[in-house]
Amino acid sequence: MFSFLSREPVHDPLVAPTPTADTTVKTTTCYMCACRCGIRVHLREGEKGPEVRYIDGNPNHPLNQGVICAKGSSGIMKQVSPARITQPLLRKAGSERGAGEFEPISWERAYGILTERLAKIRATDPKKFALFTGRDQMQALTGLFARQFGTPNYAAHGGFCSVNMAAGMIYTIGGSFWEFGGPDLERAKLFVMIGTAEDHHSNPMKIAISKFKRAGGRFISINPVRTGYSAIADEWIPIKPGTDGALFMALLHELIGNELVDHAFLKRFTNAPQLVVLDDCEREGLFAFDPERGPPGDGRNPHNKLVWDKASGSVKPAYPEGIADGCDPALEGHYTLADGTRVAPSFQLLRERVASCTPEWAQAITGIDAARIRKLAREMGETALKQAFELPIPWTDAWGKKHETTQARPVAFHAMRGLAAHSNGFQTVRALAVLMSVLGTIDAPGGFRHKAPYPRHIVPNYRAFNDPGMIQPNTPLNAAPLGFPASPDELAINPDGSPIRIDHAFSWEHPLSAHGLMHNVITNAVKGDPYRIDTLLIFMANMAWNSSMNTMAVREMLNRKDEKGEHMIPFLVVCDAFQSETVAFADLVLPDTTYLERHDVMGMLDRPISEFDGPVDSVRIPVVPPTGQCKPFQEVLIELASRLKFPAFTTPEGGRKYSGYPDFIVNFEPQPGIGFLMGWRGKDGTEHLRGAPNPKQWEAYEKNNCVFQYHMPETMHYMRNWNREYLDFAKDKGWRQRNDPVQLALYSDTLQSFRLAAQGKSPGRQPPDALRERIDTYFDPLPFWYPPLEEAATDLDAFPLNALTQRPMAMYHSWDSQNAWLRQIHSHNYLHVNPVTAQAAGIADGGWCWVESRWGKVRCMLRHSEAVEPGTVWTWNAIGKADGAWQLAPGADEARKGFLLNHLISEELPCAGTASGTISNSDPVTGQAGWYDVRVRIRPAEPGEPEESYPQMASMPAVPGVLGKAASVLTYFAGRARK
Ligand code: SF4
Repeated sequence: MFSFLSREPVHDPLVAPTPTADTTVKTTTCYMCACRCGIRVHLREGEKGPEVRYIDGNPNHPLNQGVICAKGSSGIMKQVSPARITQPLLRKAGSERGAGEFEPISWERAYGILTERLAKIRATDPKKFALFTGRDQMQALTGLFARQFGTPNYAAHGGFCSVNMAAGMIYTIGGSFWEFGGPDLERAKLFVMIGTAEDHHSNPMKIAISKFKRAGGRFISINPVRTGYSAIADEWIPIKPGTDGALFMALLHELIGNELVDHAFLKRFTNAPQLVVLDDCEREGLFAFDPERGPPGDGRNPHNKLVWDKASGSVKPAYPEGIADGCDPALEGHYTLADGTRVAPSFQLLRERVASCTPEWAQAITGIDAARIRKLAREMGETALKQAFELPIPWTDAWGKKHETTQARPVAFHAMRGLAAHSNGFQTVRALAVLMSVLGTIDAPGGFRHKAPYPRHIVPNYRAFNDPGMIQPNTPLNAAPLGFPASPDELAINPDGSPIRIDHAFSWEHPLSAHGLMHNVITNAVKGDPYRIDTLLIFMANMAWNSSMNTMAVREMLNRKDEKGEHMIPFLVVCDAFQSETVAFADLVLPDTTYLERHDVMGMLDRPISEFDGPVDSVRIPVVPPTGQCKPFQEVLIELASRLKFPAFTTPEGGRKYSGYPDFIVNFEPQPGIGFLMGWRGKDGTEHLRGAPNPKQWEAYEKNNCVFQYHMPETMHYMRNWNREYLDFAKDKGWRQRNDPVQLALYSDTLQSFRLAAQGKSPGRQPPDALRERIDTYFDPLPFWYPPLEEAATDLDAFPLNALTQRPMAMYHSWDSQNAWLRQIHSHNYLHVNPVTAQAAGIADGGWCWVESRWGKVRCMLRHSEAVEPGTVWTWNAIGKADGAWQLAPGADEARKGFLLNHLISEELPCAGTASGTISNSDPVTGQAGWYDVRVRIRPAEPGEPEESYPQMASMPAVPGVLGKAASVLTYFAGRARK
């Protein structure tokens, strides 16, 4: 009877569950957060078919090895969420957007409305259709849809997530953290985590840290907040938000000043020894080259560069030949070429750059004691160099030199949004990548390791669409909407320099915005800057609430009309599985499925789940039928693409090419033999990585835990930027277009090419005058720290505190504050404030207070917390809700006590000279939303004020067909009728 109190486990998770007569077990992939763990879903036959009874981790899955978190096991409550939308809905004629008044319609009518409208736009001006998606995991399909439609106005959520992390790392080392690389904790001795909350890479990171700590590794967490990770670290070092770049510059100062750098690595594998032109000329700041050996590169292809050979005292060719035997390239000094050009190795310029970045300088910015910064540098340098070891793994480098062993550098880093979500994030991430590089930790045992298909070339061979003349009726774009610009010539601008995209991505405002700027779409579209659009299709993004900065203004803009009474955004389509705040603003609502009801692919064409030792892809396979009339968004896209007769979705005879999403996944090939999935290819399913389509590919994944893993030979496990065997292999498998090595860009001539344009020194495209200084300043080829842009626009005496939001461990985005089980962990949030700061403001623990920024104010409850540095206040993200949204009962904690920090954050900053007089509140290089830059002050609420959060919304009504029955969910038991 009391077996649950026994020391014996109730069940052994490693033993395969035995299905009972009325229970079946199916495997699929979790989507309660973005980590994509393997799960087993236990099903029981209910009144209307199979119902989910229990979810546990799949022990046979390479990613999580059976581990499951609170969110993952609560997927059952997402499945039966009262907020599920179950049928297509059309806004009632005459009702206001936001009022949430809808009539149910059939899918055929929904498709008819959409097809007619989209066909008209596509036949006239395709850019008037914009497709923006939130945290979806199928960007290869959504991007293809936009490209085939012929609109450049497409992006997923990366611009407000962590594009600074992706771009800052990829433009420096050819890879990035999380999906495409991470810390090798199996072999590291020191692990430094900075700016990371409980978000990306949750379970796998926790499994790795637990093993790392058991093996005696030292773990340091640097964060303004003592997060869950910081709590289990050996040391928590508090830091002021937005100042991480200053810390990295000071660490570089110490490491370089004390010669704690990997000289051999820098000379052979990075551009540290390559000579940079110092003269005031067209090529100032670019790499010198030998004209006899051909022209310099175009920023995308490798070109011949030069080094100064200390052995012979002469100039020698460097890249792409590599460094010749016997050549000892200088990392320091100033030299003069035969034609009189003054040059210096780029490392010399880095040394000069960090010379003034002393620990005392950084102490004043970061709040970290200078002595601690010195000690940290010493710990990093000595661990990397003096505790180094070699693995007996031979490998051959890109230039044919055989290495009998692989050099380990056992210092690993992990960083995420805490660095990225600032307007100085790109250069901060660059500084971190340079720091990792000088220690020689890139793709080295114990350091940072890539995951296939990375590393990519620097700059990756993916140009973003950039030719306004190619936006033509009924014509696909000649390039994907997103990519990685390598020079000003690749910007997506009109001949007059204005943006061609609605979000201004890849324009002079944000040239390297590899993930777009979703956070500016609504604002720009309403302003008509650079033009009005007709239809905005939003998938899985809560733009009327937590996915927007300046939430109240965005809600107003969604409902704003022109002088003719037409909405500024005439048609708004929202596809979501749940009745979010944004659904109320839609003209047309498309009910999506949950992750348990659909096919999905996490593959090499966009976001695989690769491991360090080889590529891994995975799928979701429906374990229960769709609820009501819900359809997977993937199916909706395939259907629309077929009806609109996109070339890639139409047979030569004009018929429909794919019967649906599963058929598309099996048979679509961007190149012969390469498809969305790499496992079990070939007609009989015996080929892997590359091969003809296999009609039974889905069945093969279903039999194999929904995952395919390929283990590369050990000789390809490390040093993949320069590993000849790996580079050839990766090209052969279609992961890279070329097999040339990826030299680390400590010094970025790509950035310098933009700077030269801004300075008017280079021929070709130049920025508008209003943006010249901005480009000149922020496109520095060497990393540097500058205060976040919002600080310049803010009276720091009036708003002395930094304010942050972070994702709670138990909830992912806004999805989970409707989850009946997870709501029992958090049903509302507090503002967490250091007691010293709170007491100085006269606010008691648990008291109500006002938080004010330059842009807005919120009223909320405050908790004293020692776990935050005194200059920072923080809260959980997206727990606060609009009343009635997500089918929460009227007056639910989430609406009355919960609050959203987004009300305090502006999506724009003033900017003289732009068409609108404003510019996105984003990183000037990448367009990453500067969420974490906001400055605030706090004061107590007045006695007698209502004890509820501010602002409050008018309650949202239930939409027709919403699943509802909130009360019975709490007593849900599969297999029984719900009352
Ligand atoms: S970390 Fe948790 S929620 Fe995220 S995928 Fe894994 S089990 Fe699911």
